[in-house]
Amino acid sequence: MYDKDNIFAKIIRGDAPSTQIYADDYAIAFQNIAPRAKTHVLVIPRGEYTDIYDFTANAPADAQTGFWNAVRKTVEKLGIENNFRAVANTGAGAGQSVFHFHVHIMSDERFKTDF
Ligand code: AMP
Repeated sequence: MYDKDNIFAKIIRGDAPSTQIYADDYAIAFQNIAPRAKTHVLVIPRGEYTDIYDFTANAPADAQTGFWNAVRKTVEKLGIENNFRAVANTGAGAGQSVFHFHVHIMSDERFKTDF
């Protein structure tokens, strides 16, 4: 069940602050308040979906295409096209703490040698 008072819903409504990187009709990208990498941005759809499973099952096609385009544009704006990780924690057991679907975009110099 989607909780309309989750922190990302508040950011979408403008009821909570964020440092925005990119925004369009489908999605918003903003800085993670507690970064785990040199670059750590969150991309969220404007629609109310709890996780990637809910989003891919229930969001209309244009919302899904728009969201992934926003992910790509965010990555391009950050200039990390060839060096990033995209992570979507799904469920509390997997580390999800905010139940509005989001993709973590993380980039760090060391990723180049980690793999
Ligand atoms: P997850 O654990 O995958 O649900 O990720 C939630 C992420 O949201 C965490 O990495 C938090 O640091 C981040 N976060 C929580 N509140 C805020 C906020 N107000 N602004 C930006 N990032 C936040």
